[in-house]
Amino acid sequence: MRMVVSAAFLAAAALFGAMPAFAAAPPCAKADALGVARTVEIDTTGGPGFGLEHYKAYDFLQPKEVVLTFDDGPQKFSTEGVLAALAAQCTKATFFTIGKMALGYPEIIREVAQAGHTIGTHTWSHQAISKLKTFDEGRDEIERGISAVKRAVGGPVSPFFRYPTLKDTPDSLAHLNKRNIAMFSTDIDSFDFKLQPPEALVKGVMEKLEKKGKGILLMHDIHKNTAKALPLLLTQLKEKGYKVVHLTAKGEVATLPEYDALIEKDAKGLPQIGSERPTASVVRTIGGDAPASETNKMESGRLEPAAALPVALPAAAPVGKAAELTPPPAAAVPVAAVPVAVAPAATAPVAPAASPVAAQAAAPVATVGAPVTTSSISTERPAGSGEPPKDEAVPAAAQPKTMTEKVQAIWEMWFGK
Ligand SMILES: [Zn+2]
Repeated sequence: MRMVVSAAFLAAAALFGAMPAFAAAPPCAKADALGVARTVEIDTTGGPGFGLEHYKAYDFLQPKEVVLTFDDGPQKFSTEGVLAALAAQCTKATFFTIGKMALGYPEIIREVAQAGHTIGTHTWSHQAISKLKTFDEGRDEIERGISAVKRAVGGPVSPFFRYPTLKDTPDSLAHLNKRNIAMFSTDIDSFDFKLQPPEALVKGVMEKLEKKGKGILLMHDIHKNTAKALPLLLTQLKEKGYKVVHLTAKGEVATLPEYDALIEKDAKGLPQIGSERPTASVVRTIGGDAPASETNKMESGRLEPAAALPVALPAAAPVGKAAELTPPPAAAVPVAAVPVAVAPAATAPVAPAASPVAAQAAAPVATVGAPVTTSSISTERPAGSGEPPKDEAVPAAAQPKTMTEKVQAIWEMWFGK
């Protein structure tokens, strides 16, 4: 079982190997965590589509397998709450990030990357591509979003894209096909933007999941409600025998230089990719008392906590704008939309497993990480050897003992009891 764990961590390390500023995620200390059952690598050549609600060519999940996805972030508190819940269960998700939000909260999207989650994109400003007047506008939304997210992350971003409102258009699909960017719809829409109480949200998701038996689950990390519901959802997934599949990409997305230049003025003040240095290595107290941020350094190789980064928020920072970005109810999306996306050339109708993409030497989805079982994790490390970074935020006066208590304490601090 040791080999199994090593393979998974090597895969994670390989994903971020080109980015020395980010260290591998801390090891899992929870013996009965949900964990990650399988890591798959997606070859995005030709822009394959996933999520059976719209793209039906690649049905890669086994019964009881789920993929966790979060759209529209990053957002203060809610994304951090989602990260804490995922960390507490040692599991991984995919974040479809909005360019403006990423530039507004670069420190949070970097936390997402540091934790080993997969980052895809979700346009620059959450415009519904299908409602834009020209394809140029749609391309700008897609490409500016990719350049912005990559600039904010300061490291690899996956060639994964999700349409706002899930509605595609022939022009934009052809563009994504050409750019070798995979598209993700969903199998199970949580409707978490309706801001139901956490228990109701979890109940709704579990009922849909029981019906379908598996699927890509769509949630939003801009809602505190979602963050609040997530511990319960992950617990129920574990109890009902569901397994999390972590999506990764075979290669990272390439940005287009003209869009990199375009977003540079929005990114003013952000350190250049690869130039990040901990503040304590740049500014050091040599007289008087050193502040806690200097004496209480995070482990070597990791970025400092967000607040300590020498980052000035751009003028376009979307603070307080999250509500505008909330998508309209996905019920408006036609469920039986034609999956025209997969073929790189529009010469033949796309049929499952018969498209030009599917006919390539390898299928677009391959398992790269053998199952990481919770028992294998528990034999690998002593309990308590890994603490989620969020624990640093727990007030010293009320230090809880167990992982569950710690996560609960963070929730209460952010969201109240
Ligand atoms: Zn969205």
